[in-house]
Amino acid sequence: MDIRSLGDRILKGERRALARAITLVESGREDHRAQATELLTHLAKSNRQSLRIGLSGTPGVGKSTFIESFGMMLIEQGLRVAVLAVDPSSTRSGGSILGDKTRMERLSREKNAFIRPSPSQSHLGGVARRTREAIALCEAAAFDVVLIETVGVGQSETVVSEMSDLFLLLLAPAGGDELQGVKRGIMEMADMILVNKADGDLKATATRTCADYAGALRLLRKRPQDPEGFPKAMTVSAVEEHGLEKAWAEMQSLVQSRRESGHWDANRAAQAQYWFEQEVRAALLARLTTPQARTDMAHLGAQVRTGELSPSAAAETMLASLLPR
Ligand code: GDP
Repeated sequence: MDIRSLGDRILKGERRALARAITLVESGREDHRAQATELLTHLAKSNRQSLRIGLSGTPGVGKSTFIESFGMMLIEQGLRVAVLAVDPSSTRSGGSILGDKTRMERLSREKNAFIRPSPSQSHLGGVARRTREAIALCEAAAFDVVLIETVGVGQSETVVSEMSDLFLLLLAPAGGDELQGVKRGIMEMADMILVNKADGDLKATATRTCADYAGALRLLRKRPQDPEGFPKAMTVSAVEEHGLEKAWAEMQSLVQSRRESGHWDANRAAQAQYWFEQEVRAALLARLTTPQARTDMAHLGAQVRTGELSPSAAAETMLASLLPR
């Protein structure tokens, strides 16, 4: 594969080239990994930045409906929108690709939209790297907004929020006791809570739910760098396309304020460092679980048990074998 020309096509914003490149970064093959690294290095020179918006919510809350409506609104404003999904627990197969596309039917027909469902059978470590690299590819392909969707399954929110500029939590209208159901940690990640389905019979409940969450947000850690009122809770209706423009205006004002204060860059820098450290940790752990390493561990462990070796001496030997100088 000619990596240079693939890169140049991505820089021109060609969606087919982008799709192909994402397949490349998703591949586990070693030669593909080398090509992916070459491609990403080549593209990094473009220095393009998208607005990365993480979006989380439990199944059924209206994520796809929201992404479709919100995405269409952005496209009508002349923006280019990419949608990526992070679904670490997924064992979904090819069928869901179609499923995702039909769920975002209007958006998938737009030439300024790019939708990429999450690959099936992925574990969280691999998902993080692939998603980060897919985001980088979308940025190089000059997408203005990259939406990163995740289902609420605990850890994946952390992964997504650590690669997003803004993190949105989508919630459904519910009685007060359900407020307890949202983990505090997830609430703390959110820049905005959007209570969806604020329409028809659900409107009053949505308004109440929104007020409950606004109250809860006020009690959480305040980010001193953000303007008054953030993190914010708002109601929207993805179906009636209500509240979307207001939500977008709030997002833009938060982004602008963070850019002006330097927190946008500082946040991206901190995220880059975080991912660097995560990768080193993951690579070390991977070395620890090879068959050879397991054998060595068992062997050294036996010697520690009999007192032949001290725990620290055995650990040193083990580490030396993992990280040959
Ligand atoms: P996801 O699983 O989070 O992606 O949720 P979906 O977007 O598939 O929506 C789940 C269900 O909620 C569907 O039946 C949608 O039609 C419905 N839904 C989504 N958004 C709204 C909304 O704004 N108002 C109402 N009343 N229903 C909605």
